[in-house]
Amino acid sequence: MSSLESTMMQADLRSDTITKPDAAIVEAMAMAQVGDDCYGDDPSVYALESYCAELFGKEAALFTCSGTMSNQIALRAHTKPGDEIIVDHTYHINFFESAACSNLAHVVLNTIHSKDGVLDVADIQAAYDSKPRAPIYSQARLVCLENTIAYHGGKVFPVKNMERIGKFAREMGLKVHLDGARLMNACDAAGEPPTAWAKHADTVSLCFAKGLGAPFGSILAGDSESIARARAYRKWYGGALHQSGYMAAAALASLQRNVVRLADDHENARLLNTLLKNSQNTVPVYDEVDTNIVLFDVAPTGLCAKKFSTVMETFGVRLFPWLGTQVRAITHQNVSAEQVEWAAHKIMEVANNLAYEHAKSYNLKLAA
Ligand SMILES: *Cc1c(COP(=O)(O)O)cnc(C)c1O
Repeated sequence: MSSLESTMMQADLRSDTITKPDAAIVEAMAMAQVGDDCYGDDPSVYALESYCAELFGKEAALFTCSGTMSNQIALRAHTKPGDEIIVDHTYHINFFESAACSNLAHVVLNTIHSKDGVLDVADIQAAYDSKPRAPIYSQARLVCLENTIAYHGGKVFPVKNMERIGKFAREMGLKVHLDGARLMNACDAAGEPPTAWAKHADTVSLCFAKGLGAPFGSILAGDSESIARARAYRKWYGGALHQSGYMAAAALASLQRNVVRLADDHENARLLNTLLKNSQNTVPVYDEVDTNIVLFDVAPTGLCAKKFSTVMETFGVRLFPWLGTQVRAITHQNVSAEQVEWAAHKIMEVANNLAYEHAKSYNLKLAA
């Protein structure tokens, strides 16, 4: 590789939401038949919703603007103000959406502090039992699960746990919502269809604008009654659109064409995780990577994740600062194996230089 080429190399690993629609998706949009979906007239929206209802083994599905909107509408459809939802503190619904939960559905979040986001019946039971349940107090109504678990390096939520929790929730009169923003990534990693998890949940969501590569949208699937309520809340939240068939056609194309290539992202994430182990200054948080998210710790560089990410950006590697000294990298269709390998070496080179300077200044301080 010439030095000119190497200076032009870049890798944007901030998120799989940065993916841009490929030619096939743009063509699907251009060819889409559309109508006013608020009048039920858009055949492309209808096609997407029917396809997704079947994919998840549910009676109905609703096309929404974003993963956040799917989650927030689901919470609203399953609860009344003052009700409680049981959720791991690391899940998107708490970690990024607690303000929305408080302001839109007006629900209380009963958070579980598990080791890795992989919950089981005992966690739900303990959260339920942590408060008095007389009718004058907040009532637990809903359990929220997440797959893949974004905070914990894209870990797959085990089907067995989901099955046990689903059964327990039914016995307790609790509903279950699965935030499946990256559910198709879990399907690839576990070799299971989406129904393996969806059948144990009342509602399930999936994002099209992440690894699947569509420009917009998410789906919420469930029983007809829940989805009818969800449809009303989508309108209330300003998310009922008119010729949304262009976006629905892109979403359907992304599902039909891009699920197979998620395996490449997973391979690239494993490659990145493995390479980063070659430096003691970039320590992977998880030994193994299930899907497309890599978390690594840069504490030995003396920089926090935010500063480290800012430095890396000047070298053409874009990363997402997670918490403290943990940095996140997500692989996706717009970064190749070659770019990932280059990025790994660049990250280690910079981290090693920073750690060396950090140790030197520390030793100088000690000597003074
Ligand atoms: C990205 C994500 C969401 C939200 O999706 P947006 O489309 O960005 O609103 C929800 N849950 C999880 C687990 C996610 O990763």
